[in-house]
Amino acid sequence: MRRWTPFALILILTTAALADQRRFEWPLVKGNLPDLRGITSTFGESRDDHFHAGLDIASQDDPVESIADGRILYSRRASDNPFRPLPGPGNLMIIDHGDGWWSGYFHLQELARVRYGDVTSNTIIGYSGNTGRSGGAHLHFFVAKNYGKEFINPLEVLPKVTDTHAPVVQELIFFTEKGKSSLLPEREHRIRLTKAYPVHLNVRDPGLEGSTRRGVYQLSWSLNGKQQGQREFSAIDSTPQGWLLSGALPFESVFTDWYHNLGILPFQNGRNVLKVKAVDYAGNVSVTEFILQIQKEY
Ligand SMILES: [Zn+2]
Repeated sequence: MRRWTPFALILILTTAALADQRRFEWPLVKGNLPDLRGITSTFGESRDDHFHAGLDIASQDDPVESIADGRILYSRRASDNPFRPLPGPGNLMIIDHGDGWWSGYFHLQELARVRYGDVTSNTIIGYSGNTGRSGGAHLHFFVAKNYGKEFINPLEVLPKVTDTHAPVVQELIFFTEKGKSSLLPEREHRIRLTKAYPVHLNVRDPGLEGSTRRGVYQLSWSLNGKQQGQREFSAIDSTPQGWLLSGALPFESVFTDWYHNLGILPFQNGRNVLKVKAVDYAGNVSVTEFILQIQKEY
């Protein structure tokens, strides 16, 4: 029987750690790095009924490069036969970077002429566009580990981009039988609750200015000084129960429509302070307080 020496074991562990820290290049650069513009949608956002598992960059007819060396795993035109039409991704390319790492590129206007074989991080694999289910020309791309079973936040493995704005918690929302009631932060609200309604938040993360998105990375919240929950938008995993955030949370428990769902909170009669901490990938932090004078009727 072969015995592993401690030295061999250390080597194996080191290789595993390195495989987990892959670095990639941006597939498409709008503006000058690191002041990347044109990111219109980020990882982990709500898409009404599912998580957005990649990054969107507004773009039309721009060359799209592979984010690293690899080989073409799959490519197809939306109209290819004999497959049924693919309504979602449109023309797409998926590149295999080894050790289970994949990257994917959707809505391409044109695919590169060569659709098999090796690529480098300088190979143009197609041109951005608006094919498939896409409400405006953009490149959607994803980075996955574990042979497509774990989508990760591309910002974790791409060169850093400028992000000077902390996430903004815009409003707290209760959806009741009467509709949507919206409460603004930093001032006191008197409300009567007839039921234990879940609490929702509207949060956005501007990057360079209002229109450039970077994305919420971590969200945590406390009520009257007691921590109630937290989430990290780092990975979305394929499981027998479907796609789950951090391998545990189904879409419905994280979002309602476009709003973060914090669930039912243990409000007390009288004054309540709900404190929300939001962090973006660059580490910008915002802390937002909602002061609620509550009359509980349940
Ligand atoms: Zn997208």
